[in-house]
Amino acid sequence: MQEILVQNELSIEKSRSGRRGIRYAQVHKHAADYLPDGYLRKQEPHLPEMSEFDTVRHFTRLSQQNYCLDGQFYPLGSCTMKYNPKSYDVLSALPSFANAHPFAPENAVQGTLEILYNLQELLKKITGLSAFTLQPAAGAHGELTGILTARAYHNATGGQDRTQVIVPDTAHGTNPATAHMAGYEVINIKSAPNGCVDKEALQAALSEKTAVVMLTVPNTVGLFEPDIREIADMVHNAGALLYMDGANFNALIGLAKPADFGVDIMHLNLHKTFAAPHGGGGPGSGPVGAAAHVAPYLPKPIVTLQDGRYTFTETAESLGKMKAFYGNIAVCIRGYCYLRQFDAATLKEIAENAILNANYIRSLLKGKFNAFFDCNCMHECVLSINPAEMNGVHTSDIAKRLLDYGFYAPTIYFPLIVPEALMIEPTETENKEMLDAFVAAMERIYEEIKTDPQIVKDAPHHHPVKRIDEVSAARNPNLHW
Ligand SMILES: *Cc1c(COP(=O)(O)O)cnc(C)c1O
Repeated sequence: MQEILVQNELSIEKSRSGRRGIRYAQVHKHAADYLPDGYLRKQEPHLPEMSEFDTVRHFTRLSQQNYCLDGQFYPLGSCTMKYNPKSYDVLSALPSFANAHPFAPENAVQGTLEILYNLQELLKKITGLSAFTLQPAAGAHGELTGILTARAYHNATGGQDRTQVIVPDTAHGTNPATAHMAGYEVINIKSAPNGCVDKEALQAALSEKTAVVMLTVPNTVGLFEPDIREIADMVHNAGALLYMDGANFNALIGLAKPADFGVDIMHLNLHKTFAAPHGGGGPGSGPVGAAAHVAPYLPKPIVTLQDGRYTFTETAESLGKMKAFYGNIAVCIRGYCYLRQFDAATLKEIAENAILNANYIRSLLKGKFNAFFDCNCMHECVLSINPAEMNGVHTSDIAKRLLDYGFYAPTIYFPLIVPEALMIEPTETENKEMLDAFVAAMERIYEEIKTDPQIVKDAPHHHPVKRIDEVSAARNPNLHW
């Protein structure tokens, strides 16, 4: 009986001929009386036929099957899936923000402009940089903005022939993609054995052709560059600019200011560090900051305060616009709320706890699942396994088995330089009980790998969708209802 019900729930084809939701009274006006013939439907639309009740049940069930941060731990490395305060959602949706027309005159939206201005000021404060644009709609969009800003700077200062961007192999994948999209030649350099930048390799790659060196800090193996100051000097001596991918600023907020270690341009992800919800492909925000010598080349406009009035201003050197209007304001407002809620000491504590939590997991799992680079990490730890010692179990199997224990899988097989990588970012908003429960699940999986590896290889066992054929799913997606 139970079996039959489950089958019924899972059956994707729910339409039955003649079933209806709402039945409308007969419409007497005929479309043909007022629509041109070309617009008239010649055949019935091919829509599923279902009762309203069945439709509600269908979508409610789907929503419950959807794993979400509001329901469970989401240790997805490099994504900073931390708690998003619900009050920010309410505040950012206040009618005076949400209903403001993008063409409203400046004097009608002084409150919104004041918030954008104050957010720019707060971002300047925590990074030490001279100016910020709030236009970019995501981290990768921030990178593109940053690289185009660098090009505008070089074009204006005699660096037109700088055609290369250097990217270490520990950079986030979007970094080389961005440089390529912007039309640069991407020069990849290998990391040193400690997982950080190989300074000799960097020196060898630097030349009068280098426009930008892009560093992800902390890098994708979760490590801070200990020689960042020296690296910045090398980059500047070659006449190039240092770009920092600061999407994972959760590890540094309140602890370090990138301007102090020589960063010229960087982006932040408001939808990671600054607690704006993300993950569903919704709007993001990737503000880009620049040091004084590069600041005039940022996109226009930027909010300034003149004679007690907030106004959009543009520099003559600006690279132009990167987005219609001014950015994803609702996400900016959430970022502003976050920075106003916490003082400097608390922001520092946030970074320290993010780092502590990642190292807590790393040390408890040591001996069973080891960090690829065996040293203290920042906000995330990157573990690795050797399938030869794991009865043929691969990282993807562990990820599937974690689902059975109620945990979203960490980021896996990334970064590419770590074989069989498991990249775990707990964030500071998880408590000790949750971290212990996650570690306990990983330990149970380790025991299973040693005693009954098949159970791990066949996972998940307790989910409506079992192993899918990932190749067919990508090549032949069945998108039928
Ligand atoms: C998430 C992330 C990005 C990309 O940000 P999006 O908002 O997804 O475009 C870039 N770099 C790093 C290090 C990231 O973690």
